[in-house]
Amino acid sequence: MDNKCEAVRENYARISAQIAEAAVKSGRQPEDITFMAVTKTVAPELVNCAIDCGISLLGENRVQEYQSKRDAYRPGVPVDFIGTLQTNKVKYLIGNMRLIHSVDRLPLAAEIERIAAKHDMVQDILLEVNIGREESKSGVLPEALPELLAQTAALGHVRVCGLMTIPPPAKDTSFLQAMQELYLKTAETTPMHILSMGMSDDYCEAIACGSNLVRIGSALFGARVYR
Ligand SMILES: *Cc1c(COP(=O)(O)O)cnc(C)c1O
Repeated sequence: MDNKCEAVRENYARISAQIAEAAVKSGRQPEDITFMAVTKTVAPELVNCAIDCGISLLGENRVQEYQSKRDAYRPGVPVDFIGTLQTNKVKYLIGNMRLIHSVDRLPLAAEIERIAAKHDMVQDILLEVNIGREESKSGVLPEALPELLAQTAALGHVRVCGLMTIPPPAKDTSFLQAMQELYLKTAETTPMHILSMGMSDDYCEAIACGSNLVRIGSALFGARVYR
């Protein structure tokens, strides 16, 4: 674990420097960009190494895995949910997640509303957009976003804070740019402040295209080993 922890430390330093550089290049401050550590398949001890480095946000994408690991994490670091979410799992997340990134349909938003109301709280969410129109991916299609926004805006215990996307693998930045345009257009009419875009392979390009939250797994922790 010590060698692995050292590798995480080096990766963290390198990625943080690259994020800072990309931020400044795009006219922002390094602290304007949030660096999320995506923890799927990663041992809790290694997640704690990232926390010791100063990581200030964790990203979980499976409810069960989160539940089995959360008690082993060093406390005090907020957690976001970024994975595909089944409606019947919402009850395990409300009260535990700073932000849910993957809301892409009204029934899911309505269930978040119902459980958040029970907890007497407002749950912050992002709407996930399927910018590459891929059948295999979740996310609302761009043209359906305004309707979903209007529907979720009517919910009293859900607050839409921005948009999230997982673009298709691409050689150029056209999907990232399309997402930037959609975000800017949407933010003109609906106040929002988070564009969650960019993973290990494209975080610098994503920041250049306006992202202010990058979700990084393998570049920080090494290649994932699925069991
Ligand atoms: C796994 C995952 C990431 C991180 O992927 P890497 O390429 O390993 O950085 C980011 N976002 C979501 C939604 C993920 O599921």
